[in-house]
Amino acid sequence: MSERQSRAAILCVGDELTEGRTLDRHGKFLSELLTELGATVDRISLVPDELDAYRREFLDLFPRVGTVIITGGLGPTSDDLTREAVAEAAQVELEFHEDIWEWLLNRFPHRKISDTNRKQALIPAGFEVIPNEAGTAPGFVGEVDGCTVVALPGPPRELQTMVDRHLRSILGARFGVREEEISWATTFMVPESELEEALQRHGAESLRWGTNTEGYRILLRLRGGDEPARQAFFTRLRGDLGAERIVEGRAEIGEVVLNDLRRTGRRLVCAESCTGGLVAKLVTDVPGSSEGFWGGFVAYSNTAKIGLLGVSEQTLADTGAVSPETAGEMALGALERSGGEAGIAVAITGIAGPEGGTEEKPVGTVWLAVALDGRVLETRHVFLPRDRDRVRRWSAISALLLVREALSEVA
Ligand code: AMP
Ligand code: MG
Repeated sequence: MSERQSRAAILCVGDELTEGRTLDRHGKFLSELLTELGATVDRISLVPDELDAYRREFLDLFPRVGTVIITGGLGPTSDDLTREAVAEAAQVELEFHEDIWEWLLNRFPHRKISDTNRKQALIPAGFEVIPNEAGTAPGFVGEVDGCTVVALPGPPRELQTMVDRHLRSILGARFGVREEEISWATTFMVPESELEEALQRHGAESLRWGTNTEGYRILLRLRGGDEPARQAFFTRLRGDLGAERIVEGRAEIGEVVLNDLRRTGRRLVCAESCTGGLVAKLVTDVPGSSEGFWGGFVAYSNTAKIGLLGVSEQTLADTGAVSPETAGEMALGALERSGGEAGIAVAITGIAGPEGGTEEKPVGTVWLAVALDGRVLETRHVFLPRDRDRVRRWSAISALLLVREALSEVA
């Protein structure tokens, strides 16, 4: 494939974008897809609803890139100009497609389709129609001066449906990277610098990688080599980073923990103070979580820790609410309160801030405990000196990683 053919550009059209009323969602979605399929994304532009603006972009892009994806400007109103701009560039007429018009009329029997919608049945001559199963404006694809031009509707749900059902295969064939040539892995709570060092240490000549950091999780995309080579690389990374912190595929922490619970035949109960139910949320975000999740307690105040979980007043007085002793008693209490139905408990108590820190226990001080089979297996101190939101979020993730570690020991 030539350098030009491997290059792609994305034009997101709409005054709502250039005037700052709407945040562009298509640039990210499409560039991720293109990159995954092996294209090099040259540019993502926000373009106003003006013919001249299209002309300037086309003039610059068509000689240099092999694919241009245009989003928006396919509505029925006079400010929607994508059809006209593409027809002009291709030096062809707009053709009225009777079948699209019939389809539009029949599509919404209870909605009035006015004559202005006729515009949506116009397609540049020689272009192929891409059906819109989620809305009214079809997309289209064709060639202009050796550049493949794709037009997609603006509403995100319509665009994404069209991409999933039709465009993925069109583009996949074009850029030549098949989905099976890419492997994914997900890391949890691994600092970017630590991951980069591990990648450098274990990388091989034929392998290329890209990372996508989303707070506590990093998505790792591996390309090149063959499947066994990527597998071996992954195994080396797992040995380096620890099995609980890296998994194959694109995964959410809740799913991963539920898999471990299923595998070991245990259900989880959680006792949460500073995370206020976040652990329970992360796990129950996953459909079907009841199989692996018993339930949870939010024991925020000392009296709640005593009343809900049976933490002793003496422990609270002697060691404070944020201590290994309190965390341990919270976990044991939760395990007992489940009446034997939960096979593992995790507890979190910490200082999320911004107030409440002391010299001895500054903001970000967190104690975790995990209990199973009637005893505390481990208590762990984590120090996450960040803003309140991140202290809470990262504590919840750390607690779930501790559950993974504990389950790997009993399995
Ligand atoms: P269209 O009629 O195809 O120009 O787009 C219709 C609607 O889709 C707009 O009013 C926006 O609400 C939405 N839309 C268009 N482009 C984008 C974009 N880049 N990101 C998010 N929403 C968009
Ligand atoms: Mg528009």
